Amino acid sequence: MTTIELDGVSKRYGETTAIADATLSIADSEFFTLVGPSGCGKTTTLRLIAGFEEPTSGTIRFDGEDVAGVPPENRGVGVVFQNYALFPHMTVAENVGYGLQFTDPPGDLSPDERVQELLALVDLAGMDDRDPDSLSGGQQQRVALARALAPGPRVLLLDEPMSALDAQLRESLRLQLKRIQSELGITTVYVTHDQEEALSVSDRVAVLSGGAIEQIGTPQAIYRRPDTPFVARFVGDNNVFSGRVTVIEQDDETATIAIEGASIHAAIPADRSIDRGDTVTICVRPEYVSVTASEDDRGKKSGGELNRLTGSVVSSEFLGETTRVHVSWGETELLVRTTDPIDGQVTLAFDPDAVRIVSVGS
Ligand code: ATP
Repeated sequence: MTTIELDGVSKRYGETTAIADATLSIADSEFFTLVGPSGCGKTTTLRLIAGFEEPTSGTIRFDGEDVAGVPPENRGVGVVFQNYALFPHMTVAENVGYGLQFTDPPGDLSPDERVQELLALVDLAGMDDRDPDSLSGGQQQRVALARALAPGPRVLLLDEPMSALDAQLRESLRLQLKRIQSELGITTVYVTHDQEEALSVSDRVAVLSGGAIEQIGTPQAIYRRPDTPFVARFVGDNNVFSGRVTVIEQDDETATIAIEGASIHAAIPADRSIDRGDTVTICVRPEYVSVTASEDDRGKKSGGELNRLTGSVVSSEFLGETTRVHVSWGETELLVRTTDPIDGQVTLAFDPDAVRIVSVGS
């Protein structure tokens, strides 16, 4: 049972602030992911939790206890890095059992029994005597995971563990990792720059940008209810644009926003206060936009969809299940999805509830 808290944690390297005033709580057994573009401070945050670095300011607690000054080997953390960092001169079993020279295995198991248990857990039973070099990248990474887990750490820390693997292997390995993590119920912090990976494996995700936490939430909340323009753009395909509020209607439930000479109606979230004249940034996911050829659309009633825009198709990308279509609308390019090919003038329709207001300025 381990919780992790960061309370106002900052880390500076000379002039560079790698992470600024980070506050977050990770629950026991949670799969928590730090995601963001290169240089946003993910690895620094993980290294601070591991104890490889000490914060410039702020406090880190494990189960409510300040871990300042506690070295990594005494924090009970298992760490897996991007480059598997296996010992090349040791067999698979010797690699997995490495940490058991310094710590007794959990439970009543002997070191050998513990190694066998871990090899079975990561689906590498029978590979004991193999050299790490003779294994595939995915297998090597599973050895690294088994090695990190063998001493029975309270926390598992993973820094881009899949980034050296090809796409198909990444998908199967992340399913395996998720299964192992929930089987063990170990509190896990995972670092990745891949937003799809973050959404697919995590209980909750923190999106970082420029050393700051932009948003923390479940994958569903991060995807459906981004709180900032950065999160709206970083996670999944999205249409993000800014305009000025011209009308507030229905007891503050709907705002009309002037963008590209059109009026877009947006539901106002309960937690936002918006006034006429404010500049807002809004987003609409492509999958919420219906797209029809404009000539098929003539005379059609709007059918409850208050937002209708006309544009022209610029390009299409066939993705298999759907086609991603780029539509020019004034100065703006919009992304939509269709199942059938479409070209020429198109009408885009979407509901005010599909429009998310992500920032408000004056
Ligand atoms: P990446 O995905 O590229 O690994 P990241 O999000 O993990 O990026 P960090 O490695 O945490 O980012 O780095 C955050 C910032 O801190 C970067 O600007 C980086 O150059 C800087 N930084 C990290 N470690 C050090 C260090 N030891 N000395 C100086 N600057 C550092």
